[in-house]
Amino acid sequence: MAEHEEQRAAPLNGDTTRKREDYLEWPEYFMAVAFLSAQRSKDPSSQVGACIVNQENKIVGIGYNGMPNGCDDDLLPWSRSADDRLNTKYPYGINKVCHAELNAIMNKNSADVKGCSMYVALFPCNECAKLIIQSGSSSPRGLRLSLILIPLTTLEC
Ligand SMILES: [Zn+2]
Repeated sequence: MAEHEEQRAAPLNGDTTRKREDYLEWPEYFMAVAFLSAQRSKDPSSQVGACIVNQENKIVGIGYNGMPNGCDDDLLPWSRSADDRLNTKYPYGINKVCHAELNAIMNKNSADVKGCSMYVALFPCNECAKLIIQSGSSSPRGLRLSLILIPLTTLEC
């Protein structure tokens, strides 16, 4: 048995009267929820998830990038480029895909997200950055952002 397997198996085979020590910390847990949410995305080039958490470590919003409500994601094109720009996901120079940050804020199950933290695995675009700021603008703490920076080659939304 490899060393890491022994460590993982220890709580089950050993002392079960004490709490486990290898549980996920809150930031790891929330970031994992963001990554899991990203797996719901149908975008073939970018899968992004976001998770909003309040000050009591309760999840108040989750989102991932996808077409706007009512837009058939089987009919609309997902391409980043094409001979005819109308056959891309940027038909009028704007991205028609709703980003994970937007959807997480719109899906919130609380009155607002002031003082909350957002966990997202991709650096927000300029539109989402404005949305994040505005969503917590009247709070001294605002909506804080936690993210894992990933290679620049994958930053296009
Ligand atoms: Zn964005």
